[in-house]
Amino acid sequence: MSTSAIQVSETSAQASARAEREKSGRPSHWVHAKPTEFKNPWPSFRSHTAKDFMELLPKALSQGTTSPSKAAVAEIPLQKPTWGGADPKLVAENAHKIKATWLGHACFLVELPSSTAGVRGARILFDPVFSDRCSPSQWIGPKRFTPPPCALEDVPEIDAIVISHNHYDQSWTPPPSPTSSPAPPAPHVFAPIGNAHYFHSLGIPASRAHCLDWWDARRVTTHVSEKHTASFDITFTPGQHFTGRGILDRFKTLWGGWVVEAVPAAGEDTAQAKQAKVYFGGDTGYRSVPSSTDDGPEDLPVCPAFKEIGERWGSFDFAMIPIGAYAPRKFMSPIHCAPRDSVSIFKDIRARRALGMHWGAWVLTTEDILEPPKLLAKECAKAGVKEGAFGVCGIGETVTFSVGEGEGEGSSA
Ligand SMILES: [Zn+2]
Repeated sequence: MSTSAIQVSETSAQASARAEREKSGRPSHWVHAKPTEFKNPWPSFRSHTAKDFMELLPKALSQGTTSPSKAAVAEIPLQKPTWGGADPKLVAENAHKIKATWLGHACFLVELPSSTAGVRGARILFDPVFSDRCSPSQWIGPKRFTPPPCALEDVPEIDAIVISHNHYDQSWTPPPSPTSSPAPPAPHVFAPIGNAHYFHSLGIPASRAHCLDWWDARRVTTHVSEKHTASFDITFTPGQHFTGRGILDRFKTLWGGWVVEAVPAAGEDTAQAKQAKVYFGGDTGYRSVPSSTDDGPEDLPVCPAFKEIGERWGSFDFAMIPIGAYAPRKFMSPIHCAPRDSVSIFKDIRARRALGMHWGAWVLTTEDILEPPKLLAKECAKAGVKEGAFGVCGIGETVTFSVGEGEGEGSSA
């Protein structure tokens, strides 16, 4: 198979929706007439001031010398991934389900349901980071306290690599000579607008790197076997965050989340085919709380993007939502959600099931490494989320999700 085995195009519906958006002038998240710098266009965001950084500094310095205890790290389950394929009976049972394997932090391999017995579904790898340190250097910067559960080479054949933003904990740096590997065909890369030069510098041809603005969408069709193809639509959606790998490129590339929606195969009855819908939240804040001890009044403005996503897609069979790197709250809340916010996002987007991510690999902030899943359980109970609907899994574990069953959590709210 050649690289042409994966096709990416903008459908006429996707193109006309983009033309409609362009008619209404400069989008509110563009700083200039051209998309060269971006902002969070909502009152739910607050920029960090010099005073914020001064307050954070002593905490950050003491944090730099502490690493989590072995006992705490041992509480995070870690296994070699089987990608849901160890038991043939389970493989058959799960063929029509979404399979998600957590590879630590914000990295997930998602396989969409297969439409033909014995043939794999389309596979998407979200925010892959396999390096030890999350920094420009492998000598300094936060070091992993849990290893990736496998090497990048052990990940099964993938069709798309999807990146939420360019921070070191979530943006893929490919292994050397990414274009030298023979078959299978190299996956296409989807990333926010502003990253084209980065992929160019890695030697990834522009025909394989797609940098999108908020709400832009593409259709991907891939060969899942010699005879079978699978298609999905992928849309870049807004979130509340920032970008930059150094001091000169802050806000110069965009950030956001992604929606992936399976498209029925040619000849498949559209009415019958349940279309899997998956949401990946990337890295996002939700509100900006006024102090670190107080989670803030109930009427703080919240990021409106998530309700809009819920309205557009109606529900999601599976969502990946960040739950960690939130303390101290006053500093982190504009850019990282705490479990209370994660549960609000779960409801706003109308997800049926979700897994928490953005925890369990690096100490990026001041909360205890085991706190995010504990707080998530508390907040789910408080918000009346059905038991087991939104939780966490072990690193390397594969979780399956059925498609199109029941209402989304927020849809009745
Ligand atoms: Zn980030």
